[in-house]
Amino acid sequence: MVDFRRLEDVDVAGKRVLVRVDFNVPCDDAGNVTDDTRLRAALPTINYLRGHGAITILMSHFGRPDGKRESGASLMKLVRPLSEFLHNEVAFAPDCIGAATKKAVAQLQDRDVLLLENTRFHPGETQTADGAMGFDPAFAKQLSDLGEIFVHDAFSVAHRAQASTSGVAADLPAYAGLAMERELDHLSQALDVPRRPVMGLVGGAKVSSKIDLLENLVNKLDKLAIGGGMANTFLAALGHNVGASLCEHDLKPTALTILENAKQVNCEILLPIDVVVAKQFRAGAAHRVCGLDQVADDEMILDAGPMTVNALADAIDASQTLVWNGPLGAFELTPFDTATVEAAKYAAKRVVQGKLIAVAGGGDTVSALKHAGAADDFTFISTAGGAFLQWMEGKPLPGVEILKKPQIKDRP
Ligand code: AMP
Repeated sequence: MVDFRRLEDVDVAGKRVLVRVDFNVPCDDAGNVTDDTRLRAALPTINYLRGHGAITILMSHFGRPDGKRESGASLMKLVRPLSEFLHNEVAFAPDCIGAATKKAVAQLQDRDVLLLENTRFHPGETQTADGAMGFDPAFAKQLSDLGEIFVHDAFSVAHRAQASTSGVAADLPAYAGLAMERELDHLSQALDVPRRPVMGLVGGAKVSSKIDLLENLVNKLDKLAIGGGMANTFLAALGHNVGASLCEHDLKPTALTILENAKQVNCEILLPIDVVVAKQFRAGAAHRVCGLDQVADDEMILDAGPMTVNALADAIDASQTLVWNGPLGAFELTPFDTATVEAAKYAAKRVVQGKLIAVAGGGDTVSALKHAGAADDFTFISTAGGAFLQWMEGKPLPGVEILKKPQIKDRP
């Protein structure tokens, strides 16, 4: 279990609490928020802080303005929607550091909320003073001078060590916000201390982007199902003709090593046993279901077949925990979404029956599960991309490390 400092461990009443949120929300050209998931995700922590009499100072990045002021990347557009969500006027500081910002902070009363301007308007957020990757501690100090306590509530940036995360945590006592806490508790429940048997389902385009992830998972799971384009590399490595399919032939030895490692640690690997093939990569393309050794040279494997889906359902039945990343086929193109949709629906059904804990995350996975209508029934879906994958790779996340006990400056 990840042991980290939580909000309940600190008295925030009357304190200036600097909260790192992820307000990098999708917006249209006119600056209207098109998906408010990330705004909503921050509400429990903000409401908690207000309810406990704290002064809340929010900081976030938005887009990639590369250390320069860029009007399109201003966070000002979020003041109105955020004020509406909180039923309370949110103040805005046109910079995240400097004398005017300090003055704005000094004027705040208990329960007030102030949103700072985009931290990435300053190069020190993501670069050292010499321009190398990292952050500038002097810039971080200017941020941390604004608060007395730091709360990290943006798991989606936990794989990065930046001024508004690791930099501020070096100066102030740091705690997980409620969204971060929820995320870490669920991820830990899925991989660190899972109810066994625990199964993984990893799909997506390429093995190359998920080698570390697969290597880590075989050591943690009882079963690992591999699907999507990346399964083709494994099938080819085992001597099957994958025709014109997406396949990283140069990674066949890596695939064999992963299979061999899995055998050593008793992790059962499930690969497709039948496939859906087509000659064109487009929605509605003529297609057929076939066995592994019946793929013609001009055909592409675009989805797993029905026998594979049945085998996955059996494996899900035999598991108490499921961790899912990546689609089982080219799910954006019907009917090559079928295996992903069927497997997702089946897993969701087992969760609803109380038989399964299902945790999913990472990029396309969220849209694939939403597309299947299964997202709401999963136990937990992480909207984080890179951070979720790095967690699945078993690598430490800087944004989580800073929250781990003990901390010298604990209890302000
Ligand atoms: P990833 O970002 O690695 O999770 O990959 C997701 C992408 O993999 C999606 O855009 C899918 O369309 C694609 N994909 C999954 N299976 C296949 C396949 N058999 N052939 C080609 N693309 C696939």
